[in-house]
Amino acid sequence: MIRYKLVCNKDHDFEGWFRDSAAYDAQAKKGLLVCPTCNSKRVAKAPMAPAVSKKAELAEVATKAKAMREWVTNVRKHVEQNAEYVGERFPNEARAIHYGDAKERQIYGEATLDDARELIEEGVPVAPLPSLPRADS
Ligand SMILES: [Zn+2]
Repeated sequence: MIRYKLVCNKDHDFEGWFRDSAAYDAQAKKGLLVCPTCNSKRVAKAPMAPAVSKKAELAEVATKAKAMREWVTNVRKHVEQNAEYVGERFPNEARAIHYGDAKERQIYGEATLDDARELIEEGVPVAPLPSLPRADS
């Protein structure tokens, strides 16, 4: 069974249940669809937002959240394996590398928003690491 939201030529909307879309087409063609409010036979399918059950919606959100967590974990893992952790020296190190005063390498560490903004304004390529609240809470 499928449910269609129907609307007549006077804008009354109502619902109709049909075995399938062919059954709807057949009834519509024979003029069997009648508006229950005004008895108009000029009835058509109303545009309807796809119906998603709450459960399916929640499952989808959970799946997306899981994928997001995995992505964040992977990014962090990649950075931690390929870059040197410099902690709070990050702004200075990043600057030193950018200006050729330190060995060119990938680093990561701590920076305040202001530090990061200054670095970016100077043209030092920095990017924030994604973080998420602990998944095991
Ligand atoms: Zn009507």
